[in-house]
Amino acid sequence: MRRPCSSGSCASSSTYSMPPSGICACGELIVYLTSHTPENPGRHFWRCRNFKTTRDCGFFLWDEDAGVQSSGTQRVVDMLRTELEDSKDKLDELKKKLEDTKMKFEDTKMKLEESKNKISKLQRKLDCELLNKKMAFAAILIVVLAWVVSFCFLYGRKM
Ligand SMILES: [Zn+2]
Repeated sequence: MRRPCSSGSCASSSTYSMPPSGICACGELIVYLTSHTPENPGRHFWRCRNFKTTRDCGFFLWDEDAGVQSSGTQRVVDMLRTELEDSKDKLDELKKKLEDTKMKFEDTKMKLEESKNKISKLQRKLDCELLNKKMAFAAILIVVLAWVVSFCFLYGRKM
């Protein structure tokens, strides 16, 4: 890993050149910073945005070496705009995903509702069957009782 500016004092000539899309080897937009070192106070430079982490690809370029006509500020604005567009796209994607998830949730809810209906239908059917059985049992009981009573009555008269 190359770290040309790790000590805070960079060579005046950069080994890097301005990437056309403003994206370094990490695949991320480089950042525009201002030097606060005693050697280069207020000097602007471009750097890999991962420079504070171990993922730093080492990209470093003084703004005057960038060799682009537009000012650093203009480029920052351009890059921010690109980043904003990117974020917008990502946001749209997230929105779509959220919409998808919502739809799936609605679907699941409907299915759950259907299952609930089916269960309550089954419950009612079961209740109905139970009632029928009870009624059949009661009918048999009545018939048997009637038979016993009439038998007793007949038998009693014979005695
Ligand atoms: Zn990088």
